[in-house]
Amino acid sequence: VLGAIAGPDRPTRAQIAGRTGLTKTTVSSLVDVLVGAGLVSAGDPDRGLVGRPGSPLDLDPRGPAGLGVEINVDYCAATIVDFAGQVRAEWSEASDHRRLPPGEVLDRAAALGRRALEAVPGVAVAGLAVAVPGLVDLDGRLRRAPNLPGWEDLDVARELEARLGTDFALLECDNEANLAALAERWFAEPASRDFVHVSGEIGVGAGIVVNGALWRGASGLGAELGHVMVDPGGPRCTCGARGCLEQVAGLEALVRAAGGPAGAPGSDLGRAREELVRRARSGDPETLAALGRAGAALGAALAALVNLIGVSSIILGGVYADLAPFIIGRVADELGERVLSHAWAPVTLGVSPLGQGAAVLGAAATPVRRILADPVAWFPEMLTVSAVGG
Ligand SMILES: [Zn+2]
Repeated sequence: VLGAIAGPDRPTRAQIAGRTGLTKTTVSSLVDVLVGAGLVSAGDPDRGLVGRPGSPLDLDPRGPAGLGVEINVDYCAATIVDFAGQVRAEWSEASDHRRLPPGEVLDRAAALGRRALEAVPGVAVAGLAVAVPGLVDLDGRLRRAPNLPGWEDLDVARELEARLGTDFALLECDNEANLAALAERWFAEPASRDFVHVSGEIGVGAGIVVNGALWRGASGLGAELGHVMVDPGGPRCTCGARGCLEQVAGLEALVRAAGGPAGAPGSDLGRAREELVRRARSGDPETLAALGRAGAALGAALAALVNLIGVSSIILGGVYADLAPFIIGRVADELGERVLSHAWAPVTLGVSPLGQGAAVLGAAATPVRRILADPVAWFPEMLTVSAVGG
């Protein structure tokens, strides 16, 4: 019933009964329970219809909200999404985390999270989810972040919870590319239920969605697109291997190849990112050549992925959303040449409307989605109420 109410069309009790096959009486008593738990609100009855008017039902924006925090290589971000899926607060801050000890970065991320919480004093935040640029296992433990020295074997969500001084009912940590892909699925609603969302940052990540659900692999540690080898003789990567995609198509590699101001550790990558986009738009030949090489490498790596798992759609996100006009043609060429199924089932190539904010948005929405999927797990008192209500 809650799932039906979470849809886009504000259904009435009668419509939910029609969709779920439950009786109107059962739906009404379940809706009363959901209203009582503060998860659902009933609007004014819709006049002008034949028969007794029904009240359109909505998720209650005063219900349990989610706090998302993203710790990336060159910025932190914090976002709050309420129970109705609306963004209520957004903060982000550029800083190069490669030169700071993890404790200091966690302090900064917590300060940003606190500012977001303070910006919405009336909102009950039930959960915290953290996006990080590294390998996170199924228990939410960050095993390794190749671009963040010293970040190994850390329970990042617990560290932040302790710094925020709040006990969250839901607490999780996930790879930023996974959370960006979930945000794409929940907020941008791509046509296909099978897609890969590519997060272009200093690292290059992929979130693979198969039949509407995130593909996690056996350990949760896969989908490391940035470490697919594209040039056996290429430069040494932060992961230790040689010729990884990230060393051609990652943001820092791009800035370096385009002759930009960044490249040295500690330089302002936020400004370098803007400068890169500006140079590309102004038609700087060195920048366009670097982007062309990056697009070709990205296309080759993605073609390997499509040949293996057969997704039907690829969505470019992160910095690639801004750079799409300068790389998408080369990506498409590589896919056309290398994907064997191309003649019968061409891959759709698109650009994410969410840009760099996708991962933190997905993080903030994660606690809300957990509650929507299984409200009784988080509000067990509902069971008692519904048993009494019949
Ligand atoms: Zn690598």
